[in-house]
Amino acid sequence: MIVMNNVNKVYEDGFHALKNINLEMKKGEITVLIGPSGCGKSTTMKLINRLISPSSGEVLINGRNVNEIDPVKLRRNIGYVIQSIGLFPHMTIGRNVGIVPRLKKWDADKINRRIDELMRLVGLPPETYRDRYPSELSGGQQQRIGVIRALAADPDIILMDEPFSALDPISREQLQDELIRLQQELRKTIVFVTHDMDEALKIADTIVLMKEGQIVQTGTPETILRHP
Ligand code: ADP
Ligand code: ADP
Repeated sequence: MIVMNNVNKVYEDGFHALKNINLEMKKGEITVLIGPSGCGKSTTMKLINRLISPSSGEVLINGRNVNEIDPVKLRRNIGYVIQSIGLFPHMTIGRNVGIVPRLKKWDADKINRRIDELMRLVGLPPETYRDRYPSELSGGQQQRIGVIRALAADPDIILMDEPFSALDPISREQLQDELIRLQQELRKTIVFVTHDMDEALKIADTIVLMKEGQIVQTGTPETILRHP
């Protein structure tokens, strides 16, 4: 679980990007951050993986202040999925998926089993796709690989920053369905950023509506729909 207590972020140029944020992101849930560009969604994500530090207040992961967790260890326990996918073009799909397990020095057999298992889970049979390069896959297939790469080392937390927004509507819907299905199995703490209210309503357990560095409303999709 991720907890933010009275978090403020003032950037070096004096811009007050987050104002007194109090938030709980529960294990087993998909928490969706939604709001206009510039409202502080990415700043919130960066505070969780300690790319930046709060100006005041605290960010806790399972009760520990992130500023007291070694940043390298912290990031190896947080999967990160972004819009532009970020697969390494010179590495095969198999090597891409296995990056974090290799950094964590898992043994080779275990890494191979994990890669195959995850590829099957998202409908990309390793026999066919493992030795291909990213450019040989469609955008939707590459984004599936981006998602399972973030899951590979079994992190507790997965941060997803507009992961599906570059995809065509059909791939997008398929990946939303897959994410919901994966989460029913995995029960991770997932934080998902989107601009798209339909996407938020579909995948979220909890929606956090942000505006100008503040939380305007928090609730389940049902309550957000009833009190827009
Ligand atoms: P979002 O992800 O919701 O689009 P961000 O969290 O990226 O918003 O940014 C929130 C606000 O903080 C924006 O106005 C942005 O310009 C500003 N901001 C982000 N990073 C910095 C920075 N390093 N220095 C100064 N201002 C920043
Ligand atoms: P995103 O919305 O995808 O996070 P941005 O374009 O807002 O991307 O930000 C890209 C990078 O530039 C981030 O590292 C952010 O911290 C930084 N940045 C954003 N806005 C500002 C700003 N006003 N001043 C300085 N750096 C900024």
